[in-house]
Amino acid sequence: MKWGLVGASTIASEHMIGAIRAQAGHTVEAVLSSSAERGQAFATRNGIPHAFTDLETLLARPEIGAVYISTTNEKHFSQAMAAFAAGKHVLCEKPLALSVDDAAQMVEAARNAGLVFATNHHLRCAGAHLAIRQIIAEGRLGHVLSVRVFHAVSLPEHLRGWRIDNRDAGGGVIADITVHDADTVRFHLGEDPKTVVAQAVSSGLGEGVEDSVMSVWTMPSGIMVQSHESFTHPYAGSGIEVHGTEGSLFAQGVMTQRPTGTITMTDKDGTVQLNYDRHDLYGYGLKAFNRAVAGHGRPAADGVDGLKSLAVAMAVARSAREGRAVDVDYKG
Ligand code: NDP
Repeated sequence: MKWGLVGASTIASEHMIGAIRAQAGHTVEAVLSSSAERGQAFATRNGIPHAFTDLETLLARPEIGAVYISTTNEKHFSQAMAAFAAGKHVLCEKPLALSVDDAAQMVEAARNAGLVFATNHHLRCAGAHLAIRQIIAEGRLGHVLSVRVFHAVSLPEHLRGWRIDNRDAGGGVIADITVHDADTVRFHLGEDPKTVVAQAVSSGLGEGVEDSVMSVWTMPSGIMVQSHESFTHPYAGSGIEVHGTEGSLFAQGVMTQRPTGTITMTDKDGTVQLNYDRHDLYGYGLKAFNRAVAGHGRPAADGVDGLKSLAVAMAVARSAREGRAVDVDYKG
């Protein structure tokens, strides 16, 4: 299948172009940029045949079967809607949109058109998270009581543009990282956060947007979830802990784009380190996407998953803003 890239972005050049080309028979045909100069430079640098500045022109190419949308967040909605109208399958970056209503419209448009719609939630594609999920599902931790997510990192210099100063483009750590953590927790626990309480601050990087947030989520089963995201923590490291009545699981360095990190489990017999498959996260997601396009199964994270992670993030943002507990509104 031939792909169109909507957005001359860092994530496309650092991860997705290589992951697309690693799929047998998949090529990148064109890139869309709002700047002719940047788009052409991006195309040349990445060996892409065409660069366009007009989305309709890219979408009119019949040989393009799917688009990968990785523009800034405020553009995802209109670009995905145009792609569905043009009959293209869509792999969209998170957050899917700036509102849950818009995300719901995207889900509906894809469904009506019979097109595959996926959200690029890479963490659930990681061997580490697949292993964690399996351990929970097998009941090896007993009855799960609580989950703690540690995702306070140092935002690399080259990503400190719109993320730290542009609310209109969907900046801020909640839109950037809390969505991923919401998806990961949903993936592990198989249930959707019900109510959240949160506090957010700017701790040195955010200019008009939050760069750090802590929140606590109530799950329908009663499991407690604690989540911490930040752009300003150079040495904190990332991780997730899952604590149950029969065991505790500690995964360090696993909230990341690369297949890294360690998982240990402690129970009455002691502590063991767990092995897991270290495949490329984005390649794994693309494989599931391509299978879904071929009519087999569903994407790793579909549009509804993207809608739900956005709904949790929106509730966290609102709770922090209003200083009260907020029920997550998944719009039905
Ligand atoms: P970038 O800032 O690299 O790119 C976003 C947009 O910014 C591009 O579409 C481009 O516009 C514009 N842009 C890029 N370089 C320049 C420049 N030098 N000057 C002016 N404008 C420029 O963003 P990211 O790649 O970090 O993120 C893109 C999307 O991907 C976001 O939605 C983000 O949330 C998501 N993301 C997801 C990750 C994941 O693991 N799932 C990881 C990282 C990001 P144009 O296209 O018009 O040229």
